[in-house]
Amino acid sequence: MPVRDRPLPSVLDPHGRTIGAEEREAVLRVLDSGVLCSTFGPEGRALEAEMAQLYGRRAAVACSSGTAALHLAVAAAGIRPGDEVITTPISDFGTVAPVLAQGGRVVFADVLPGDGNLDPDAVEAAITPRTRAVIAVHLFGGAADTGRLRRICDEHGLLLIEDCAQAWLGEDADGRLLGTLGDIACFSLQQFKHITAGDGGLATTDDPELARRMRLFADKGWDRTEGRVHREMGLNYRITELAAAVARAQLGKVAEVVRLRRAHAEQLVAAIGGLDGVRVPQQRAGHAWWLFPLLVEDNDRWAKALTAEGVPAMAGYLERTLYANPVFTGYPAGLCPEAERMVDSTLLALPWNEAYTPADVDDIARAIRLVHAA
Ligand SMILES: *Cc1c(COP(=O)(O)O)cnc(C)c1O
Repeated sequence: MPVRDRPLPSVLDPHGRTIGAEEREAVLRVLDSGVLCSTFGPEGRALEAEMAQLYGRRAAVACSSGTAALHLAVAAAGIRPGDEVITTPISDFGTVAPVLAQGGRVVFADVLPGDGNLDPDAVEAAITPRTRAVIAVHLFGGAADTGRLRRICDEHGLLLIEDCAQAWLGEDADGRLLGTLGDIACFSLQQFKHITAGDGGLATTDDPELARRMRLFADKGWDRTEGRVHREMGLNYRITELAAAVARAQLGKVAEVVRLRRAHAEQLVAAIGGLDGVRVPQQRAGHAWWLFPLLVEDNDRWAKALTAEGVPAMAGYLERTLYANPVFTGYPAGLCPEAERMVDSTLLALPWNEAYTPADVDDIARAIRLVHAA
């Protein structure tokens, strides 16, 4: 018998999502209005106002995905062919796709072995005269060192973009909200994130000019205040009214989602914290716990054994570092040794969910202890 004989709540089942009466009402409200396009309805603009308010930033731009939000950021940053953007090799492809779309060059800097976030020293060493921006990903909801990255970017005149897709309401060690230290912060509303509208994205900034350029890029470069004129390149990255209305309802729940995920994480840490050779995240205050990352030896063995015990686990989170994907050429194996070591052998990621009960977390802890003992 496996430790766990029925599935844990997951992001692909209604018990593992916070979709309820508020979202149902939101969808019907939009359908009944007859206006499903956010150019002409109130929901997209209201979502932006509520997001800006939640994060205390001057502007938020809603769009169709987290990848789109990052493309808005990279386009507003003025990334052009030949420009270089420094980022991490451990992230979703959506972090780098926008740089490629702009004809820019992705420069991968290595990560810190503790949490898999960008190593500021590696970022600094990767800066060249062509560098224009740094994209810092708060991996799994744990804070990248935005304090140091901010100083490095200021010193070299680079834009700092925070990829907060996994870090809704995360905070750094000093209690500063992740997504408020960069020039632009990008968020995702995809199915697997803390809150969801199926797909959707948001980009926030305090800079009115960056906000203006992002808004234009999301709407075909069309400044609707001056007729049908296209002064800049843009795509159609608009969110729909349906997605925006659902996102508004979800935004009202994100604080509770993060609070619960933190409580469950503390329970797991208390239950497995002392296990020899199993490392839990050191910086836990403010962690947003998108997934629960562990560092082990032989992550493949761990992932298989835990999954066999009914507790799903992913070895490495990614199958390979971003630059080892066939879409990239010219990035040699060994480019970022710490990232490769984590992905290939030490990083183990457990799906995490606000709907876990104490008994669920107990099952996860028991499975980990069992696999550890084997
Ligand atoms: C999910 C994710 C993205 C992309 O978001 P989509 O909404 O799926 O396009 C980008 N970066 C990170 C870190 C992510 O986790």
